[in-house]
Amino acid sequence: MSCLLTQWRIIPTNSPLIIRNCSKCGQKSEYINTGNFRVNANGNNLDVWLIYQCNKCKTTYNLSIYERISPNKIPKSEYEKFLANDIDLALQYSLNKDVLRKNKAQAVLDMVEFVIAGDTAMEGLPQHNSVTVEIINPYNLPIRTLRLIASQLNLSRSKVRKLIEQGIITSSNINDLNKKVINNKWDFTYPTNILDTK
Ligand SMILES: [Zn+2]
Repeated sequence: MSCLLTQWRIIPTNSPLIIRNCSKCGQKSEYINTGNFRVNANGNNLDVWLIYQCNKCKTTYNLSIYERISPNKIPKSEYEKFLANDIDLALQYSLNKDVLRKNKAQAVLDMVEFVIAGDTAMEGLPQHNSVTVEIINPYNLPIRTLRLIASQLNLSRSKVRKLIEQGIITSSNINDLNKKVINNKWDFTYPTNILDTK
C-alpha cells in the first residue's frame, strides 16, 4: 500500500481589517492597511509603523512594528522594504500575530481571503492507495476544515462529513476536523478511490 504525501500551503491574499475606536467617528470603526510604512528617527533609535486608515473618515492609526530600536538591529533588506512600502511585507506584518498582540489590535482574520499553493491535482493517482495532505497554515487563518477539504477534493461538505464519520478520511488531529483550522500545521488522509464514489 503506497501513500502519496502532498502539501497544501495557505497563502493569504489580503490584509485583515482592524476594528478599533475612531475618535473622529465616535464609534468602533474598520481600519484598513494602507500598505505604507513610516520610519521615524527617535534619538539614535528608530520607530517603524505600518499605517492604517479609518474606512469612513481616513483618520490614521499607526501599528507599531519596532519601537526605539537600534538601526543596526533591523536587517538591511527589511529596512529597504520599509522605505519602499513593500506590499508583501505590509501584508506579512498585518498578519503577524506577535505584532497584533503587542499592539492589542483586533484583526478580523476570518475575512482574509487566501489561495492554496501546492499540489492540488487529485486525478491520475492510480499508483497510490491513499493521499496524506499536510496543511500548512502559517498565519493560523480560521478556515473551516470541512469546507477546505470539500472544495479542494470537489466533494460536498455532507459527503466529507460522512467519510470522516465512517473513518474513511482520517487525521492525526481528528478532533480538529469539525473545527476551524487554527493550527499552524495539520494533516488528513484519504483513499484515492473516494474520488470515484461521488
Ligand atoms: Zn473614523
